[in-house]
Amino acid sequence: RPSVTFDNVVFGYEPDRTILHGLSFEVPADSRVAIVGPSGAGKSTIARLLFRFYDPQGGRIMIDGQDIRKATQASVRAAIGIVPQDSVLFNDTIGYNIGYGREGSSQGEIETAARGAAISDLIDRLPQGFDTEVGERGLKLSGGEKQRVAIARTLLKNPPILLFDEATSALDTRTEQEILGTMRDVARDRTTISIAHRLSTIADSDVILVLDQGRLAEQGSHAELLRRG
Ligand code: ADP
Ligand code: ADP
Repeated sequence: RPSVTFDNVVFGYEPDRTILHGLSFEVPADSRVAIVGPSGAGKSTIARLLFRFYDPQGGRIMIDGQDIRKATQASVRAAIGIVPQDSVLFNDTIGYNIGYGREGSSQGEIETAARGAAISDLIDRLPQGFDTEVGERGLKLSGGEKQRVAIARTLLKNPPILLFDEATSALDTRTEQEILGTMRDVARDRTTISIAHRLSTIADSDVILVLDQGRLAEQGSHAELLRRG
C-alpha cells in the first residue's frame, strides 16, 4: 500500500493569494491519517491537489515516493478512492450505482467483483436489494444509506488509498457512528486520509494533522492533542 507525501507544497488558486504555504506532511503506507481544521483552512484544496485537479506552484506531491506530476492523471485517480460528503447517486438501481463504470451491475456480478475488494459485508448490510430503484423515480435513501452505497462503489475499484472528504459531516450523530464503523472496517488494509472539521469523528486515526490557514498547526495522536489542549 502506497504512502502519500506532501513536500513543501505551495499553492494558490489566484496568483496573489497563497492558500497552502509550503505544506509538508506524510501519510505512511497503511496508516490512517486525519486532516482537521476550520472551514477555509485548505483541507479540500489538499484533496483537489492529490486528485490533480490542480498542480502546486511549488513543492511536490508524491504517491509511494513518486511525484504525481510524472504519472498520468488516470493512474493517480485510479489509486485514490474518494468518498465525498454528499455522494451523488444516479436515478437507477442500487446495483447500477455500486457497479457504475464496470461491466455488469447485477448482484452476482458485483458480488464476484466485490470479493477481491472485501466489501461483501457492506453490501449485505444494505437494507434494500440490488434491483431497488433509487432517486427521483424510486426509493429515497437516507443519508447513511447513500454513504454506504457510495463507499461500496468506491471500494469496488479496490483503490489502495482512500480519501474520506467530510464523509460523515452531513449525517446525524447516530448514523455518523455507523458510517464511521464502516469506514474503520474498510480502512483496514489501505492507506486512509480522512478530512473532517470535528475532532470527535477522527479520534481513532493514527495521526491527526491540524491545519490552520494553509499551515500545519499541530500533529499527533488524538490523546496527544487532547493532552496539549
Ligand atoms: P476547507 O476545505 O478547509 O474548508 P478549502 O480548501 O475549501 O478549505 O479552501 C481554502 C481557501 O481557498 C479558502 O480561503 C477558499 O476561499 C479558497 N478557495 C477554495 N476554492 C477556491 C477556488 N476554486 N477559487 C478560489 N479560491 C478558492
Ligand atoms: P472516476 O469516476 O473518474 O473514477 P471518482 O468516482 O473517484 O472518479 O470521482 C468522481 C469525481 O468526483 C471526480 O472525477 C471529481 O469530479 C469529483 N471529486 C473527487 N474528489 C473531489 C473533491 N475533493 N472535491 C470536489 N470534487 C471531487
